[in-house]
Amino acid sequence: MAGAQLLKAVRLRSYDLGRFETILPQREFADLVRQAEAGRRLLRGRTVWNVNSTARGGGVAEMLGPLLGYARGAGVDGRWLVVGGEPDFFRVTKRLHNQLHGAKGDGRGLGPTAALVYRRLTQRAAEQLTSRLRPDDVVILHDPQTAGMLPLVKAAGVTAVWRCHVGIDKPNAVARSAIDFLRPYLEHADAIVFSRAAFAWKGLDKNRTWIIQPSLDAFSPKNEVLDRDQVAAILAAAGVVSEGGSGEPTFTRSDGRRGRVRRKARLTEERSLGPRDPYVLQVSRWDSLKDPVGVLRGYARYIAPRQPAHLVLAGPVSGRVADDPEDVRVFGQVRAAWRRLPADARSRVHLVELPMTDVEENAAIINALQRAAAIVVQKSLAEGFGLTVAEAMWKSRPVVASRVGGIEDQIIDGETGLLVNPKDLAEFGRAVAGLLADRRRAEKMGAAAMRRVRSAYLAPRHLLQHLALLEELLGA
Ligand code: UDP
Repeated sequence: MAGAQLLKAVRLRSYDLGRFETILPQREFADLVRQAEAGRRLLRGRTVWNVNSTARGGGVAEMLGPLLGYARGAGVDGRWLVVGGEPDFFRVTKRLHNQLHGAKGDGRGLGPTAALVYRRLTQRAAEQLTSRLRPDDVVILHDPQTAGMLPLVKAAGVTAVWRCHVGIDKPNAVARSAIDFLRPYLEHADAIVFSRAAFAWKGLDKNRTWIIQPSLDAFSPKNEVLDRDQVAAILAAAGVVSEGGSGEPTFTRSDGRRGRVRRKARLTEERSLGPRDPYVLQVSRWDSLKDPVGVLRGYARYIAPRQPAHLVLAGPVSGRVADDPEDVRVFGQVRAAWRRLPADARSRVHLVELPMTDVEENAAIINALQRAAAIVVQKSLAEGFGLTVAEAMWKSRPVVASRVGGIEDQIIDGETGLLVNPKDLAEFGRAVAGLLADRRRAEKMGAAAMRRVRSAYLAPRHLLQHLALLEELLGA
């Protein structure tokens, strides 16, 4: 496939920043309008290209659509390209991803063969990109899958940024080998962006290193406000809950049209979740770093014997996320662990694989699942940011999550959620069971969580930080 097109454009919409008038304090909104105008002037005549490796599934894809949508709404020519590749390439990039999180992944190294596979494909992708660039353009390459494109992209004379959404606070030997693998490429970046200060690699030029935290889109199908009847109807339409009442399973699509949940989730369970059964929820891709098996065990050992709550583990239907070759294996492990649970706990666990044919329908189901959950957990072993945490917090859910990576920035322990040691199942179980037993505390925490997201994790703050970065790089 020497000449095959590796880059695919993702269709973007334009969103009006005016929407934020309803949620931001007046002064912040006025500032946003002013700055957006400055951004439009700065970027007039330029294209801001973003390249990552998937248009669906995972936090980066989740963020790019709305962010670029708002940028376009403000008059900036933002574009999004997805780099495709052979399974060999994605095996190497998944290894890089795992190793940057300090985990061994498939256990294979990043030797000369991996380097060759990686260099060849990223070079080809870069050649295809540069043929479209003009010197005034800006290219933002996201994550390890695209860092190899930097040398050729920079040689085209444009402004080149690499944004890394993954990391660990204290790199172990495994993480360091991934960092060393990627480091030579970064010499060519005008700026390198990490999600948190602790993730910034040692030895990088401080003047070129920036910290920008992610954000969620308050108006997307994933996060829009749904009323109680809609939530119940959506969960029933997706087959997650046995009955749904009289509401309609509808949601608002990002183009403003009404959508309707029609497709069913694939369920692994002994009996259906009832409409009034309280449940603990984790939403994530089937990835061992999200520790779904740990959630099952912690639930069975420490939560199920004390509380009537069920457990729902939800993720995309396995085998469909293009850049994630491990999900089928991990889902298999989760199923096997579920089978081995004690009977009582097993009868209250629901493994939910959500349809991915229509990502907005998928998002609406997640939205409903999060809104109806008694507690949301994110028991990750490592986490770049953990958008699922912000999503649950925005919905005023009490969250119990691991004290790792970006989750630590979001949750103020004891105030906007609870942080637990990712390796300590008993601590995890106690925290969840404690909140289930103390609804008043849980509610207070949920309300504080929502306020925290409003002030720190919405798109306007994120866009303005990008703008500040580009102002500096473009010499404004
Ligand atoms: N997600 C989704 N559908 C699914 C499972 C996950 O849309 O079936 C979303 C989830 O709501 C969140 C994102 O994927 O917006 C995951 O981002 P996060 O930062 O939590 O983890 P990542 O997958 O990037 O490691």
